[in-house]
Amino acid sequence: MAAHSLVLPPAPPGIVPYIAGWSRETLVTPRLTSCGGRLAFVDESHLDRDSWGTLWVRPTLLPKGRRGEPRLREVHPYRQRRAMRDGLCQVCARSPDDPAAPLLFLLRGDNPIRERERTASPPVCLPCAGISVQLCPYLLRHHVAATADSAPAWGLAGIVHDPVTLRPMGGDEQVVYGSPAASWVVAGRMVVELHGVTPVDLKVEFARLGRDRLEKEFARVEVPAAA
Ligand SMILES: [Zn+2]
Repeated sequence: MAAHSLVLPPAPPGIVPYIAGWSRETLVTPRLTSCGGRLAFVDESHLDRDSWGTLWVRPTLLPKGRRGEPRLREVHPYRQRRAMRDGLCQVCARSPDDPAAPLLFLLRGDNPIRERERTASPPVCLPCAGISVQLCPYLLRHHVAATADSAPAWGLAGIVHDPVTLRPMGGDEQVVYGSPAASWVVAGRMVVELHGVTPVDLKVEFARLGRDRLEKEFARVEVPAAA
């Protein structure tokens, strides 16, 4: 992006974010039923629910090298949830250097990120923010960044189903954990709430890290992280 080009080295092409989908990682839709006043899969296993007891879509999990072609506009539900839960960078999957340090969030838009803003976009490390603003089609022209002291789980994004007919009631929507709708959702992404938000000027942060260091970090990201 032009605004960052003075301090940012060019992003290496071909980077596939950790949370991106792949062509062979298809989403399976098991047959639905209701059980105990909530939505369930007929052949449900313990892997189908998160620690809040919410039902999740069931993706195919494949080792690297057998996943097919990257689908950069799709988000893999398990990897998105893991990145959110563990504070991993959504691009390189790196854990934060300091688990107590604020997490960086990079969102699409022009307005500053607000206190208690909700997002389904996991955190990102600073070098990967430098890659994302150059390569991610969602962020090229409109992005804002902020750190958050904490990002507790708020709820889910997914499809809510009618408790009687078990048919989808609409499109993708966000539901809060513990709400009646959460009992009837098939979730696809975890949503967190950002607390202790501080706006970040990425140009300043990129300059602080320096072009040489950014180049080294970009080269590191090219090496696939363990899934
Ligand atoms: Zn990263």
